[in-house]
Amino acid sequence: MYFCNIIMNKRVAFYTLGCKLNYSETSSIGRIFKDAGYDTVAFNSAADVYVINTCSVTDHADKKCRKVVKEALKHSPDAYITIVGCYAQLKPQEIADIPGVDMVLGAAEKFNIIEHINDLTKRGKAVVHNAPIDETNQFVSAYSIGDRTRTFLKVQDGCDYSCTFCTIPLARGASRSGKIEDIVRQAEEIAASGVKEIVLTGVNIGDFGIRDGKRQDRFLDLVKALDEIDGIDRIRISSIEPNLLANEIIEFVAQSKRFVPHFHMPLQSGSNKTLAKMRRRYKRELYAERVAKIKSLMPDCCIGVDVIVGFPGETREDFLDTYQFLNEMDISYLHVFTYSERENTIAAQMEGAVPGAQRSDRSKMLHILSEKKRRAFYEKQLGKVGEVLFESDVKDGYMHGFSKNYVKVRALYDPLLVNEIVHVRFTSISSQGDVDVEELPELLTH
Ligand code: SF4
Repeated sequence: MYFCNIIMNKRVAFYTLGCKLNYSETSSIGRIFKDAGYDTVAFNSAADVYVINTCSVTDHADKKCRKVVKEALKHSPDAYITIVGCYAQLKPQEIADIPGVDMVLGAAEKFNIIEHINDLTKRGKAVVHNAPIDETNQFVSAYSIGDRTRTFLKVQDGCDYSCTFCTIPLARGASRSGKIEDIVRQAEEIAASGVKEIVLTGVNIGDFGIRDGKRQDRFLDLVKALDEIDGIDRIRISSIEPNLLANEIIEFVAQSKRFVPHFHMPLQSGSNKTLAKMRRRYKRELYAERVAKIKSLMPDCCIGVDVIVGFPGETREDFLDTYQFLNEMDISYLHVFTYSERENTIAAQMEGAVPGAQRSDRSKMLHILSEKKRRAFYEKQLGKVGEVLFESDVKDGYMHGFSKNYVKVRALYDPLLVNEIVHVRFTSISSQGDVDVEELPELLTH
């Protein structure tokens, strides 16, 4: 008599809310499960374990979390549901009370997930492992995998700043980083896997270099070390505080072999009064200096800006100050955030709450300004040559890619172009607002 003796591996599925750092950490948690013998499956299929990596910055974090839990249970009503991430650190009890949740892991515990998951038995009451955030001082490295085109490499975690609107220091703890040699080794692993672009991520990456509570390195040291790695074509700095984007970094990037001409620099407000209330560590004059320095060395550099509208006490004049400032700056696009009160922040206690309708009007105005800036930036690129890294998505027969300076390009889908760097001339702006290109022989772009 024969028995069918196939032993199925346990299946795990992931869902990530929030930022690039969360995506890199979900990938790393995925590798931990893989090493423990689990198979990863898509979130919308049956799994034994679902891991939901949450964010505290998104609006209605609790509602979103509930929705994702419900969705998971729809696919597998008996699955074990674990919640990790910033929201799990900030509001563990609120999350533990969501029906169907089995375990909540705080910032210090999320990478020990396998040790915490025992027999996958649902007990009807969530277990919470959540140490106080000031005990979370270990740096755990992470990088995303999946899409072979681009990888998010975590180089730093936590933040020692105290911007009055922000809950991130409460959710992620003090600033801390990996060792340069470890990060270089990971970047080499990524390069060996065929990925062409690395995006450096962290909470406050310009503050890179703190280990064991002491400054041991500077961000520029990391940038210089990564620039020497063969096999990786492009490295992008995701977002860096203007006060930390020192001229030396800008100068290094301008002549770098691998760092691309693209900076994302949060401004948050163009009014010095509001910047002070936000406890940002610069005035708008410094921001303008940084933009001028970047543009003087790299005229085609892309500069993205984060900005918050509707911060408490922001008058119409303050907002117009911001609008005017941004309008005059040689920047390429905006990420606009509408201020919303966050528990346990100083800003939430401030007087002068801006009515919701005004917040959304200001947001609309800045979204329109962003589109104008993006278009002007793209128009300046027309006729120039560049290198585009094509991605694998297909929409209406077109594929997309990004140039080094973050121009979004479209081309008719050709599977041979996926994850390839193609030399192009930017020809026109398409009806979708991205840029059409003409392919060039490699030599013409050098
Ligand atoms: S720099 Fe400010 S906004 Fe950014 S994570 Fe730190 S506290 Fe939050």
